[in-house]
Amino acid sequence: MRTARLHGITDLRVGNEPAPEAGPGETLVRVTAVGICGSDIHWYEDGAIGDARLDRPLVPGHEGAGVIVAGPRRGERVAIDPAIPCGTCRACQEGRRNLCYNILFSGNGVTDGMLREVMPWPSSRLHPLPDTVSDEAGAMLEPLGVALWALDLGRVPFGGTTAVVGCGPVGLLLIQLLRAAGVSRLIAVEPLPHRREAAAKWGADEVLDPTPASAPTSAPTRGAAAPDFSSYGVDVAFEMAGNDDAVHIAMESVRPGGHVVLGGIPGSDTTTFRASLARGKELTFAMVRRMNEVYPRAIDLAARGVVALDPLVSSRFPLTDAPAAFAAARRRTGLKVVISALP
Ligand SMILES: [Zn+2]
Ligand SMILES: [Zn+2]
Repeated sequence: MRTARLHGITDLRVGNEPAPEAGPGETLVRVTAVGICGSDIHWYEDGAIGDARLDRPLVPGHEGAGVIVAGPRRGERVAIDPAIPCGTCRACQEGRRNLCYNILFSGNGVTDGMLREVMPWPSSRLHPLPDTVSDEAGAMLEPLGVALWALDLGRVPFGGTTAVVGCGPVGLLLIQLLRAAGVSRLIAVEPLPHRREAAAKWGADEVLDPTPASAPTSAPTRGAAAPDFSSYGVDVAFEMAGNDDAVHIAMESVRPGGHVVLGGIPGSDTTTFRASLARGKELTFAMVRRMNEVYPRAIDLAARGVVALDPLVSSRFPLTDAPAAFAAARRRTGLKVVISALP
């Protein structure tokens, strides 16, 4: 069975491994589509993410879909929920399963992920896909779930105003969700031109480049040329980039008493912001930890066409070319790179 395994920093190898068997409560899935995520790139470039480190060769991949190959559900197309909460700890019992003390997560730490032909996975974490949702869209349900959970945490008032800072795949999906949720005004902020274009296409009212036109410039000039984010005063600002500049823009663009949702993952595992700005507006912050149990809602939104997932896929590679796929994802020239087993 072909498997892509990350042995060390930028050392991703595709090899043959014995086919896995399903344990108790598990089902074997033939993986058909896997999206490469910014967090996979953290593993690939840094050999770590946050406080988790690569201490054994790991199969990456947590955004996936496939087909069940054995057992009573054989032939069923499914989205693979990457999180396995224990179900019994305090967080799980209180319904905060994404915060489970004992959580296992596909392609993270000791849990091999989806970049392999066949994988065993807990049957209860395999969500049936309707015919109207493609395998690649099934893989995109994971970033959609994160966007949906960020939206929940933001408590956007009906008809409210919002800003999305960082328009990678999760930011772009969030823009679609906010539009569907009926926000009155939506500002998007993104330095990369092709992502700004996508943000405008998917419903942002105003799309801003946070960097001034003439680079390089000195700090004071930069401040003068960059947009005045404090003039927007939105109800909720979502930071979906993972760096302090984006956090600052989100804080600037929100109104006094507003909410700031921090969804990015900083490479340095540290977020710093100006306390006076946060205190001066008495801001409320929400940190996003992946998602709680939102797969059923995400599937329903995709099936009803409320959110378009397929256009997010900008390039495809077979599993054998996984190293090239990671190199492409790292260049950030497209939107979502997918490893596809489909013809
Ligand atoms: Zn992800
Ligand atoms: Zn638990």
